[in-house]
Amino acid sequence: MIVVGSGPAGVAAAESFREQNTSGRVRILTTDRDLPYARPPLSKEYLRGQTDDVGLHPQRWFDDKTIELVHNTTVDGLDLAERSVRAGDRRFRYDALILACGAAPVAPPMPGGARARLLRSLADAAALREAAKDASTAVVIGAGFIGCEAAASLALRGMSVTLVAPETLPQEARLGSAAAERLRELVIQAGARYVGGVAVEEINDVGLRLDNGVTIDCDLILAATGVTPQHRLAADAGLDVRDSRIVVDTHMSTSTKGVYAAGDVALARHAAAGRHLAIEHWQDATDQGAIAGTSAAARGRRGMACQAFGAPSAKPRSSTTPGATATNAAGCSATLRASPCGTRPTTRLSASSPTMPTTTTTSASGLSQSGGLHRPMQ
Ligand SMILES: Cc1cc2nc3c(=O)[nH]c(=O)nc-3n(C[C@H](O)[C@H](O)[C@H](O)COP(=O)(O)OP(=O)(O)OC[C@H]3O[C@@H](n4cnc5c(N)ncnc54)[C@H](O)[C@@H]3O)c2cc1C
Repeated sequence: MIVVGSGPAGVAAAESFREQNTSGRVRILTTDRDLPYARPPLSKEYLRGQTDDVGLHPQRWFDDKTIELVHNTTVDGLDLAERSVRAGDRRFRYDALILACGAAPVAPPMPGGARARLLRSLADAAALREAAKDASTAVVIGAGFIGCEAAASLALRGMSVTLVAPETLPQEARLGSAAAERLRELVIQAGARYVGGVAVEEINDVGLRLDNGVTIDCDLILAATGVTPQHRLAADAGLDVRDSRIVVDTHMSTSTKGVYAAGDVALARHAAAGRHLAIEHWQDATDQGAIAGTSAAARGRRGMACQAFGAPSAKPRSSTTPGATATNAAGCSATLRASPCGTRPTTRLSASSPTMPTTTTTSASGLSQSGGLHRPMQ
């Protein structure tokens, strides 16, 4: 079995496949240079310098399960007829293939946009954190959850931070005015300045220029302006792709037998919702990966029960979740805990500040929960 991608979907897929199939070769091919890690802390505790411990599992965990991790390897082509994937001049054959390539941030389109830093991988976060050590002023572009969290975290490091976004209040259209106002307050409480209702026209040597004529000089610019699902491989190979995502059924099967997709790159049919949902959410990626791995292991095996995404009776299991912690923009810590018996983990945002209420979150699918302030992007 080959998995492309070492995010939560890819790791959960390999793990659940291995649970069902103890003899087949399992390989994860990944562009990433690092052992699989949790992304939620990258804009939170990690960026604030409060932890370096973001690993999902040590190398030994993979060795014990005989899951091979092939790092620094970008898959650049699929040959569905031959059942192989290409990475440069290397070819890897498979019986079952799981595409868990996630999503990638895009540089903002204005002149000089490529000068802005992006935040997705541990390498990005490490470079950003290092740059923050020598910087005293920063501008964060975009008031999605990652933008708000990163702005708050940089401000909590003691930097002078301005968060700029087109929305008067962060995410007002998605969250409503009351929640958006609260989010703005949280960012401000953390020490950042929120400048809404503006667009960035240009990024230059010294900072940036807004469309209201204001220029802001700064040492560091982070663009948190959205991500694109990594669907190109699948589209080029002729798999069914819609809205830049790979279309899968409730068992994570693509339009080609033996090929599955899970996580941010997938447009999965949700059994309870009765429709396909685009979700960019840690827990759903883990759940979908676990389902994809089980479905791949069940191929050709009669009577093996397969889970369905969103079916309340069948809860996928994965150990990529326990212990993962995340902290939101206000410093509120969210711990993802695995409940016993493979039920879904519950997440609590517990306030480290006495003014914050304790809240339980639910995901876009309405059935699972996530860490931190972060919610799925539409
Ligand atoms: C800073 C940050 C904070 C976040 N905070 C939260 C949060 O608090 N709560 C929450 O629910 N979600 C959060 N998210 C979103 C969450 O991390 C994602 O939804 C989740 O990681 C998606 O998992 P995935 O496995 O689908 O993809 P990813 O985690 O993106 O993993 C994709 C993997 O595929 C690899 N890859 C891609 N293309 C190729 C290729 N061609 N060949 C080989 N390998 C390839 C990549 O290197 C990577 O290893 C956050 C994301 C970020 C970046």
